[in-house]
Amino acid sequence: MKTDEKTEKTMPRENKISPNDGLFGLRDRVLGGYKITKTDAAALVGADLTALSLCANQIRERFCGNAFDMCAIINGKSGGCSEDCKFCAQSKHNRIPCETYALLDENEVVRAALYNYKKGVNRFSIVTAGRTLNAAEVGAVCENYKKIGEACGIFKCASHGLLNFGDFEKLLAAGVKRYHCNLETSRNFFPNVCTTHSYDDKIAAIKAAKKAGMEVCSGGIIGLGESFDDRIDMAFDLRELEIKSVPINVLNPIKGTKAENLPVLSEEEVRRTVAIYRFILPDARLRMAGGRGLFADKGEKIFMSGANAAATGDMLTTGGISIDGDMEIIGRLGFKVGLS
Ligand code: SF4
Repeated sequence: MKTDEKTEKTMPRENKISPNDGLFGLRDRVLGGYKITKTDAAALVGADLTALSLCANQIRERFCGNAFDMCAIINGKSGGCSEDCKFCAQSKHNRIPCETYALLDENEVVRAALYNYKKGVNRFSIVTAGRTLNAAEVGAVCENYKKIGEACGIFKCASHGLLNFGDFEKLLAAGVKRYHCNLETSRNFFPNVCTTHSYDDKIAAIKAAKKAGMEVCSGGIIGLGESFDDRIDMAFDLRELEIKSVPINVLNPIKGTKAENLPVLSEEEVRRTVAIYRFILPDARLRMAGGRGLFADKGEKIFMSGANAAATGDMLTTGGISIDGDMEIIGRLGFKVGLS
């Protein structure tokens, strides 16, 4: 996919970003390997959005090519969570009806993994509600991952909260190569999102997973009332942690949660956030996750603003997201679905 060079010639040069080289100059420096500073990133907040998206797309092309990483999840244990994450329907602190069940049995999990594998999805993860899993539950999910491995070749990821080093070693032995643990937001803003565990608890889990030899997928949720500076701070922490898969969720305010009255972000603001993330994390998979269905084009413009991965799935019942629909969009934009 080639971006339109003629478009660039008609773009306004953004003198606000740097008196020396403007937006396109900063892009050129990133293309040459420059790691931008927080001051550079903050200046991008005021850049012309069309030009910013164009530049982010070019950075993505240079560092990641046209590979597109698609993952799917299954909610392997639902509801009744002790934690108080403001946005989450599964928290006991948010008084809304939520389907509650214990760990799904192996047949259901394997069936879902196989379904996604046959549809061409790259990765599959069991996601469980709750602060962590107990020892018996870790044993049970490891058995499920082994069965998935016996059934098909889908790449296995896992998301089970604040596990410890020993748990990560067990997951790795069960064939799980990547662990998901979102930072959610910036260190400063985190207490506005959750008080039952801390930002440092998240960092500790991420570091333990890495120490055990796992790759880590970590990002957050935008639209919780945080500032652009908060989003930029989170991206710099992810860069520091050398995270190469970054889920970006857009808040879909759920009635009954503490986030119910927050406004939905505009697609323009999401595009701007993603484009700035691309400048900060040039070679990462920027993965559009929850909330993509809020937008009529299902994220198409966001995928042309630096994003190159997505959570998909016929089991995500909200927002009209389907695997076939996503495959059509991704192919039409010139991406190629596959692990990279
Ligand atoms: S820990 Fe997970 S399941 Fe529990 S409230 Fe937070 S986001 Fe929801």
